[in-house]
Amino acid sequence: MIKAVFFDIDDTLFTFEKAHAYAMPSVCRYAWEQLGIDPEAFAFAYDDQYRRMADEIGPQAAIHNRMIRFLRILKENKKPLSFAPVLNDLYWNAVLAAGGPEPGAPECIRSLYQKGYILGVASNMTLDWQMRKLETIGVLPYFHCIITSEEAGTEKPDKRFFDLCIRYAGCRPSECLMVGDSLKLDILGAENAGMHALWYAQPDKLTVHPGFSHYSQLEDRIASLDR
Ligand SMILES: [Mg+2]
Repeated sequence: MIKAVFFDIDDTLFTFEKAHAYAMPSVCRYAWEQLGIDPEAFAFAYDDQYRRMADEIGPQAAIHNRMIRFLRILKENKKPLSFAPVLNDLYWNAVLAAGGPEPGAPECIRSLYQKGYILGVASNMTLDWQMRKLETIGVLPYFHCIITSEEAGTEKPDKRFFDLCIRYAGCRPSECLMVGDSLKLDILGAENAGMHALWYAQPDKLTVHPGFSHYSQLEDRIASLDR
């Protein structure tokens, strides 16, 4: 019987990809107008720094910290490091302004909460902006625990990340369910730790792994795991 349900945030609860696509052009425009960095070069450097940091320091939350990413871009372009917090705020405020809930997600979260499920968040990111995303879409009060890779010291799909989720829920692994949009990070990672997992994906992908494509289907899917 499923007692605890964990959710990934980005592109599972919060429309991150769309929000990022909106935020980046304004950050690139600022970098061009205020710092003289070519917008295309800035956009490339933003992605490149992520890859390089992942290679250098491995799977941990710091690789998602935009302030570090902007600092490194400024340093390599010999620009004042004091612009890092400006770029960071510009980026995240634009993301929060442009992003929103995945359709039906807040209603589903509220319903699961009212039915007595233990609800948790399991996200590869730093905690501060993830809290604000949850607040922005109005679901923050419903979560019993919010676990990020910043606290876990490792990232999904590492089993240790999911072991921490299970410990926080206070349930057996088989009583825990993970919901997420990444087959590798969320679904296979959680199953490797003994949890159930449902994939949030387009209907054509669900031949690969059980899941749902709209939040109106999630409660039925959970019920079918209990059968
Ligand atoms: Mg995701």
